[in-house]
Amino acid sequence: MGFDHDSQRRGLMLVLSSPSGAGKTTLTRRLLKEDDTVQMSVSATTRAPRPGEVDGVDYFFVSPSDFDAMIKDDHFYEHATVFDHQYGTPRGPVDTALDGGRDVIFDIDWQGAQELAGKAKDDLVRVFILPPSIAALADRLKSRGQDSEETIARRMARAEDEISHWDAYDYVLVNDDLDETFNRLTAIVRAERLKRSRQSQLFQFVRTLQSERQRS
Ligand code: 5GP
Repeated sequence: MGFDHDSQRRGLMLVLSSPSGAGKTTLTRRLLKEDDTVQMSVSATTRAPRPGEVDGVDYFFVSPSDFDAMIKDDHFYEHATVFDHQYGTPRGPVDTALDGGRDVIFDIDWQGAQELAGKAKDDLVRVFILPPSIAALADRLKSRGQDSEETIARRMARAEDEISHWDAYDYVLVNDDLDETFNRLTAIVRAERLKRSRQSQLFQFVRTLQSERQRS
């Protein structure tokens, strides 16, 4: 008969946070590309789309009044105000994924991670990515060449604030080497998938084992 650990499990909620420039986006993209049982949670936001952002892919772009209505309808797992705009995690797609044994990655800040912990602790795995040094973080932000001096200074200040919340996470990875960090991240995901609480059919399987033993 056998037991398949991969197809008979509940999905997990993977919160990946980091100060910008620590490598989170690259790690997330790689995980999504290499593992098709992982999907991204698409948040709703009241901020305007940036050039190239697509509604329903990067975010669901909604008006402030629609956002308020969604809060009233209990549409969100969590919501928060970041940089003067509202952001929220819709429940529906997450619940469907987890029930179907698929994992969901969340690009949310520490406030969101904390609120999710209050609502879905058993499903949640929180990973924080740290830069190897503040100098490396500044270098990475500058070398992207996308942002003005002022934006870089603001992101650096915000990075320090985010780093101060490092202890709200289950795992903290120092991203000195991208390949190594990716290997560590996939090791976390593989082990978390095997947690007894996520192996939904184990109970049934053990019952079968026990009844076999009684018969023999
Ligand atoms: P941005 O506007 O640059 O896309 O995102 C700004 C910040 O909002 C980022 O730190 C991002 O992690 C956070 N964020 C995006 N979506 C959500 C969400 O649904 N909930 C929470 N709490 N934060 C979010």
